[in-house]
Amino acid sequence: MNDSNLIPTYKPSAVHFVSGRGAMLVDSEGNEYIDLVAGLAVASVGHAHPRVTEAIAEQAAKLVHVSNLFETGPQEELATRLAGLTSGMKSFFCNSGAESVEAALKLARKHAGVKGRDAMRFVCAMEGFHGRTFGALSATGQPSKQAPFAPLVEGFTHVPYGDSAALAQAIDDDVAAVLLEPIQGEAGVIVPPHGYLSAARALCDGVGALLILDEVQTGLGRTGAWFAYQHEGVDPDVMCLAKALAGGLPMGACLARPEVASSFVPGDHASTFGGGPVQSAAALATLDVIEADGLVYRALVTGRRLMSDLADMWPGAEVRGRGLLVAVEFSSDVATEIVERALGAGLVLNATSPNTLRFAPPLVIANEQLDDALATLGEVADAVLTKT
Ligand SMILES: *Cc1c(COP(=O)(O)O)cnc(C)c1O
Repeated sequence: MNDSNLIPTYKPSAVHFVSGRGAMLVDSEGNEYIDLVAGLAVASVGHAHPRVTEAIAEQAAKLVHVSNLFETGPQEELATRLAGLTSGMKSFFCNSGAESVEAALKLARKHAGVKGRDAMRFVCAMEGFHGRTFGALSATGQPSKQAPFAPLVEGFTHVPYGDSAALAQAIDDDVAAVLLEPIQGEAGVIVPPHGYLSAARALCDGVGALLILDEVQTGLGRTGAWFAYQHEGVDPDVMCLAKALAGGLPMGACLARPEVASSFVPGDHASTFGGGPVQSAAALATLDVIEADGLVYRALVTGRRLMSDLADMWPGAEVRGRGLLVAVEFSSDVATEIVERALGAGLVLNATSPNTLRFAPPLVIANEQLDDALATLGEVADAVLTKT
């Protein structure tokens, strides 16, 4: 029997975490864990980073909320920081990844109208994940997540991911935007072939459609570049951010090239809490830490090491990823049991499907922590793998 008063959207969990530090978590009984997923690619700078904690506490003691009828310093400053990290993109702030996708979709349709294009369709990828609200869910190419909630928003076409020819076939003058993850995260860390994003860019340019990249999971250093699109030198028109942005506080951002951003005018879109001073201050501190500690480069180097260690450990499995966003796909459905047993042994990780493990540790994870984690994981997994 479940006597929780929560609506059961999540499986009940056996472990209750009460505190954390860096890549370590502590449960209600005092047991320690190494966190190999960082929430879900959220706690990039680690848990309870003193600089982020201090920024939150300081701002909370000054001003928490005044609505977006008034400008606040931290929001403006954060937009300026993000403009500096991109090629001058402008920001709209919201509270989650799904909301950043909603903003991007609305902006794309509005922009098409402003440009005099009769274009309302979106092209997205099968198995892609963009969030759970109706617009974002309509973009999410997973029939199992969509079916119970039909009818969805009209105008979405899904094509196989990583296939430029399929993309070319789906793009026409009636397309407002192509929306893709630069690496599919929830689908199990699927890295597209090199050239795919450039092909998408060229196809969009061919008809005047926008290229929207959903970097909610891949952005802000996770893959060993500030943004995953930089690995291929492709600039999107619109980019979605969330997860790691505010060091664990809820925050999303929809960024757009200035020429696209100006298609939104006052009244077109809004968010009561979006860009609030506390989450903006947390985001500024998070970006400070990523920069000061060289975490983008660290993700690249540590990620290479993680992938080669995993490949050595399980030669029969497929190891893939980029930076510290990594998956291991086994030939049988062992991932769920490995995750359960690993938790019992003090490791937090995640299965994206019954045969695939995902690793997205805090970018601050120490080499020794990773070594310890892999040693434990090897033992735990051996027990499961020898059974099957
Ligand atoms: C997690 C995720 C989202 C949804 O973010 P929420 O904050 O849960 O709404 C959207 N896109 C991608 C790529 C994600 O990984």
